Amino acid sequence: MSREIHGARIFSPNETAVTIYQQDAGYILERKVFDRRLTELAANAGAEVMVKARVTGVMTAKDGAVNGVVFRYSGREYTCKTKIVIAADGVESQVGRWAGIDSTHQLRDVAICAQYLISNIEIKSEYCDFYVGSKIAPRGYIWVFPKGDDIANVGTGIRGSISGKDSKLAIDYLNAFVKRKFPEGKILGLVGGAVPVGYGLPRIVGDGIMLIGDAAQHSDPISGGGIPNAMFSGKFAAETAVKAIHNGDVSEKILNDYPKRWEREKGKNFKHICRIRDGVYKFSDDVFDRYAETLSKIPSEQITMAKVFQTLLRHQPSLLLELRHLILAGWV
Ligand SMILES: Cc1cc2nc3c(=O)[nH]c(=O)nc-3n(C[C@H](O)[C@H](O)[C@H](O)COP(=O)(O)OP(=O)(O)OC[C@H]3O[C@@H](n4cnc5c(N)ncnc54)[C@H](O)[C@@H]3O)c2cc1C
Repeated sequence: MSREIHGARIFSPNETAVTIYQQDAGYILERKVFDRRLTELAANAGAEVMVKARVTGVMTAKDGAVNGVVFRYSGREYTCKTKIVIAADGVESQVGRWAGIDSTHQLRDVAICAQYLISNIEIKSEYCDFYVGSKIAPRGYIWVFPKGDDIANVGTGIRGSISGKDSKLAIDYLNAFVKRKFPEGKILGLVGGAVPVGYGLPRIVGDGIMLIGDAAQHSDPISGGGIPNAMFSGKFAAETAVKAIHNGDVSEKILNDYPKRWEREKGKNFKHICRIRDGVYKFSDDVFDRYAETLSKIPSEQITMAKVFQTLLRHQPSLLLELRHLILAGWV
């Protein structure tokens, strides 16, 4: 872990801050360390780890069921017979596609992201900061996640359907922001990539195969945060896989328990969240500023997601139906 977080600050286009305090909001991770620790736990639990191995295809039985993978390792090609392949190969899963599962995304269902690691900045904060506005990051936001007192991840994500409009890419919005907010900052690293922000793929299992994490489009449609959801979907898939292998039936029908559980426990809210997000994205910068003005007067300990949504509803009553679903599901 790099830093404990106790809430979020949302900055409207004119930089009015709405602070939402939450004692146990979460952590900023040191991702490489975190991933290595997960690998270590898996290895200690009996998994065989092969680093720098690249899957290049799937093998299928006569009936089309997936029963193995082809991979390259140390300059050679190998095959591995499997009972179930769990594809965790990220957005637009190739492994899924080779197995006949459509893993392509509409441009509107992905956020194109760029993130710098920046040092030499003043950032003594226990909050994750989000900046919104049509000029700052259209149909997206800029984030500043503190990793220490003088170092932060500063990134942006904009919708794929917006990327390239007016010849501007995610990195252009990020550069403009960094130049304005952190002129003395030193850029130590850059990562880029696409994050799924849609409803989730309609089909994520087949005979002998399951897709998890970004491969299954399981990241949060508002924040684009995919690490916790990838862990949940990995857990749900693994528990279904163990049962299926134990019972000797790895057909799609049996593996469907996993997407059903995902839908029940996590995914069922995605479409309502997406509709609320898309409604909010239609707000003008002035409307965002007015909301922020109203909400900024409420003490940070008293602001809840419900209060934020109630304020939004005053402007866009059509979102009431979506909000009702989320309230019934205990989401707000
Ligand atoms: C710039 C940026 C910032 C982000 N910030 C956050 C954040 O702050 N919080 C958060 O929760 N989420 C964040 N995300 C999203 C998060 O990174 C993903 O949702 C998460 O990593 C998904 O995990 P995953 O294991 O499903 O996929 P990935 O992390 O994408 O892992 C897929 C892995 O599969 C490997 N792979 C692909 N193809 C093959 C193949 N053929 N053979 C073998 N291996 C293969 C890849 O090399 C990769 O290692 C961010 C994303 C980006 C792009």
